[in-house]
Amino acid sequence: MTLELQGIGVSRGIAIGRAHILFHNQPDIREYLIPAFSIEQEVDRLVNATEQAREQLRTIRDSIPGNAPADVAAFIDTHLLMLNDSSLTTVPIDMIRTRRCNAEWALQLQRDALINVFNEMDDPYLRTRRNDVDHVVDRIHRFLADEDVPDHEIPDGRLKGHIIIAEDLTPADTMLMQHQGIAAFVTEHGGATSHTTILARSLGIPAIVGVKSVRRYIQDNELLIIDGENGILIANASQATIAEYQYSREAFATHIAELGRYKSQPTQTRDGKTITLLANAEQSEDINLISNAGAHGIGLYRTEFLYMNRISPPEEEEQLAAYRDVVEGMNNQAVTIRTFDLGADKTVDGGRNQSQTAINPALGLRAIRLCLNHPAMFRTQLRAILRASAFGKIKIMFPMISGMQELTQAQRMLDMCKDELDKEELAYDRHIESGVMIEIPASAICAEMFAQKVDFLSIGTNDLIQYTLAVDRIDDQVNYLYDPLHPAVLKLINMTIEAGRKHNVPVSMCGEMAGDPKFTRLLLAMGLQHFSMHPNALLEVKQIINETELNKLPDNIISILDMAQSNDAELFLEKINETNT
Ligand code: PEP
Ligand code: MG
Repeated sequence: MTLELQGIGVSRGIAIGRAHILFHNQPDIREYLIPAFSIEQEVDRLVNATEQAREQLRTIRDSIPGNAPADVAAFIDTHLLMLNDSSLTTVPIDMIRTRRCNAEWALQLQRDALINVFNEMDDPYLRTRRNDVDHVVDRIHRFLADEDVPDHEIPDGRLKGHIIIAEDLTPADTMLMQHQGIAAFVTEHGGATSHTTILARSLGIPAIVGVKSVRRYIQDNELLIIDGENGILIANASQATIAEYQYSREAFATHIAELGRYKSQPTQTRDGKTITLLANAEQSEDINLISNAGAHGIGLYRTEFLYMNRISPPEEEEQLAAYRDVVEGMNNQAVTIRTFDLGADKTVDGGRNQSQTAINPALGLRAIRLCLNHPAMFRTQLRAILRASAFGKIKIMFPMISGMQELTQAQRMLDMCKDELDKEELAYDRHIESGVMIEIPASAICAEMFAQKVDFLSIGTNDLIQYTLAVDRIDDQVNYLYDPLHPAVLKLINMTIEAGRKHNVPVSMCGEMAGDPKFTRLLLAMGLQHFSMHPNALLEVKQIINETELNKLPDNIISILDMAQSNDAELFLEKINETNT
């Protein structure tokens, strides 16, 4: 019988492939007493599980494809080193002998002791290494439990063409899995603007999130159909249904290919208003995609992805090389580099182990707050960005600015770095522009204040919606409240655009809303002139812009700001989008 499951379609495209189920559950670990005559057997069990974990990592290490990031190997090497360290080899064995407890419990006690040591470290980077302890211990635990050990973080090519079914995926998982050529993914949790789904969209991987209990219904290796636009997963489909989706898959590919004709056209409304279309990028590999889509530059380069799946933070020279690659790859088009937005769902290890103390990480030490709190890290990044500006047009953007004090502190730090480079006689662009992201309601309300102090504003709708409506952007349970058409959200966007207009400061939008063709006309009517989005959305948005005549948009389009019911706003928007201007 055919099984159809519904979730939230977050990344368009149709995939037909076999399921690969990832187990992310923590094994249930309890203590039990081992009889004296079985103690050595228990020790052997732990020694064998540890060796199996080592063996598995070595195999994976040997099969890393050449095009994987260099840090992936280093990441695995760290885990191998830990597996050979006496803190994980001899200490738990001593515990089995002295406490007469089971291997799982001894390992868990030692894990807790090590995590405490890491938690007490002052260095924020070293503190994050506790996540490696968890990954390594988890791997041994799964061998002890005789479970399938998750191998999704490792690019060994076995997942090629498969549809990944998981409880959840972190941005770091997704980054690594793209190297394995997965066809699509489906998760039980997650929201449409989580960083994992943003990444899926920019990588062009069809994805569905929020499919409750999907791992219970789907079997490993089962043939599945994924419709990433409508959020539909079909298992055990009839031949006719498979053929129908194959047809849709080809039609989608044709549609994308046809959009290619817009690439060489200027981005201009029918009545001659020129609009700037920029791309969002996460890694230097995105440059090809961006050039192919005909973007006018990069409106948001998310640098924090440089920081993931690696054993050490990027040094100045490494960052300089990465930024230089991007800016040179863009051939004189401007690249807006956003300073690290680490924290919330973008922790160094990809968020598997959130800070133990932050109950509400999205409201915690994230983005500019984290950078200002760790001046050495921030300084290294600012110096690298400044130095890269000697090789092409770069703008600097500060994320999550909530008040003037933060902006002043960030600008001071930037000035200090410029002074340092002057003294060291290192080149940089003396006219480099800097701006802020407007992604907190407070900053939208105070946008005029910022507009007088910066070169540009950029609206980050993903966070602006999350913080305005108090809806966690990665929580599928409250996702139904995540509403870009909420009048409060639209008013804050409008205020920001107005503030820019009044003070003659360019305003762009780099949140997901900018890349959703459904909102293009509304944003144009509000006066937005700079849109930045994942490159896969560029040509579709361009098509709409080029087919819109601003003068013919109904005068009352802005009345949407006062529509209390989202349904009304949706219907109104549909009508405007259908109008042939
Ligand atoms: C945003 O919040 O809209 C944004 C672009 O930043 P990020 O998605 O990286 O938080
Ligand atoms: Mg943001």
